[in-house]
Amino acid sequence: MSTMNKRENAGFPSEIEAALPDSRVYQMQKPSPMGIGRRVFSIHNHVGDLAPWPYYESEEAFSPADPGPSTTEELRSSMQARGIEKTLIIPNYGIPVQAQPFSHNELVVKLCGEGGDKVAGALWVSGLPQNRELTESALQLLGKPNIRALKMSYILGGTADPNKWDEQTLRQHEMIFRAAVEYDIPIQFHTSPGGGSDITGFFEMIKRYGKELKVHLVHMGGGTSGHIRLLSQWKDMVEGGYRVYLDTSWAIGFAVRKLLQELDRTGIGADRVMFGCDEPWSDFESEFWKVQGVKGVSDEIKERIFWGNAEEVYFKK
Ligand SMILES: [Zn+2]
Repeated sequence: MSTMNKRENAGFPSEIEAALPDSRVYQMQKPSPMGIGRRVFSIHNHVGDLAPWPYYESEEAFSPADPGPSTTEELRSSMQARGIEKTLIIPNYGIPVQAQPFSHNELVVKLCGEGGDKVAGALWVSGLPQNRELTESALQLLGKPNIRALKMSYILGGTADPNKWDEQTLRQHEMIFRAAVEYDIPIQFHTSPGGGSDITGFFEMIKRYGKELKVHLVHMGGGTSGHIRLLSQWKDMVEGGYRVYLDTSWAIGFAVRKLLQELDRTGIGADRVMFGCDEPWSDFESEFWKVQGVKGVSDEIKERIFWGNAEEVYFKK
């Protein structure tokens, strides 16, 4: 068990740092004794601790999820415990402090540098004008070894719909998108139903930018309405020449089954869907079985989703 204090370099503004409770400790995990009988890459794993926070109606700060790994040793432990061969890591986030996820970008770079061909990373950037300087610094890290994506989330403010951006917001998004196109890397966007993360906003973004920009819609469109809307547009987006990618994390009920059946039947976009476990916010086991357990779909499709597509999109030199 590690005893390091993970908050030492967490990068919070000092007044926030002072108000936070003590940090937590990452629990090292034993390698999975059974294995899962399959090659698995996860293209969505968060690294770095996230300070406790008084979420929603809570009057006390607490941590809903375990801390993410913060050292190569911890990352390796978390991968071995689940039988993950390669992973794409992303700054941990989820509290309403704009600077917080940026503070893990250097950690992502460090773990990617130490991870050989097993670890790729996404840098946190933001289209909110208030985060312009932090975003410019993050973009300076593009080109570091194994940095293969950018990550954006409108959970912390703003909207995916470019029709609603003001001039400054537009300029900042276009700066980010130009960098991603220049490096030919996807941007992973969080999707969830309603508000700024709703898939209808992303449809507008894809219409405007998606022929050049690789748009990775995390969580398959986000929730029931997002899945239905996504499934209804999938064929047209792929055949229309839009560079859209998906992962299966957090997808619910019918969604993964339906998508896999369609990929198997038509082949349309079969190279665009990837497995992500979103630890420590989701759990590997249920994410794994949601794909593994789908009946009546060829193993070739599952091989693509569990690792083949990720190798092409995120791990190829
Ligand atoms: Zn996530």
